[in-house]
Amino acid sequence: MFVVALASGSAGNAILARAGDEALLIDAGISLRAIEQLLAWHGTAPTQIKAVLLTHEHDDHALSAAAFARRYCVPLVANALTLAALGETVAAAPTAILPVGERGAIGTFTVESFPVAHDAADPVGYRIQAAGVTVAVAVDLGSWDEATVNALTAADLIILEANHDRALLSAAPYPLSVRQRISSPRGHLDNTQCGQLLAQVMTRRGSSDVWLAHLSRHANTPQVAVESVSRALRQAGLRHLPSLRALPARARPGSGGMPCWQAREWW
Ligand SMILES: [Zn+2]
Ligand SMILES: [Zn+2]
Repeated sequence: MFVVALASGSAGNAILARAGDEALLIDAGISLRAIEQLLAWHGTAPTQIKAVLLTHEHDDHALSAAAFARRYCVPLVANALTLAALGETVAAAPTAILPVGERGAIGTFTVESFPVAHDAADPVGYRIQAAGVTVAVAVDLGSWDEATVNALTAADLIILEANHDRALLSAAPYPLSVRQRISSPRGHLDNTQCGQLLAQVMTRRGSSDVWLAHLSRHANTPQVAVESVSRALRQAGLRHLPSLRALPARARPGSGGMPCWQAREWW
């Protein structure tokens, strides 16, 4: 399986997962034109996409999901409450309901959703399996519990939110209400919470590859995120840290800043 993030953060999120000739999009929170350009850059035709999986209805995840589904006649896959929350925008789009916690087959992929704590209608993360490997995705969650640890355990690649640094957030140019929303148990994970969650996962059966996702533009940096998560992992007693990469906001063709992953191989 080949995986790359097309965009990550509050300005938009989309992940491409490809196995053989088939591919999935997990979220489509950037413009349709940007998705088409980035798919082309990664050698993927829109017609190879078998479904668009939605984590939740917020614009930075769902912006072009219905438009993509309509244009390329692929199902928009989400739970019923998330589709309902999108309202009119999905009216003419092909949709398929995947109830939270259930598993479904989409072409060569097996997909299973799991609940996450976030201020949306019925937000989820996904475990995606194909070609003998598993990728777990959890972005936009304000807290975690045993079920989250289980959902991320034994994945070959974990894509997990490390949204903000607590000190940087308190100094960030956001109104108090926004800062409170971000740091609430149904907001976004800070770097330390991300590290503590990862530590729990790693002590069971962790991944050797972890991507830190959805970094705040004003309250985090890739370097701070990697350092803070590493510190939390070491403080939890872990000796062997996974390979941690912080995702930049947008893949820029030619810039080389967005990591690509292919079944235990980096380039
Ligand atoms: Zn988001
Ligand atoms: Zn959200």
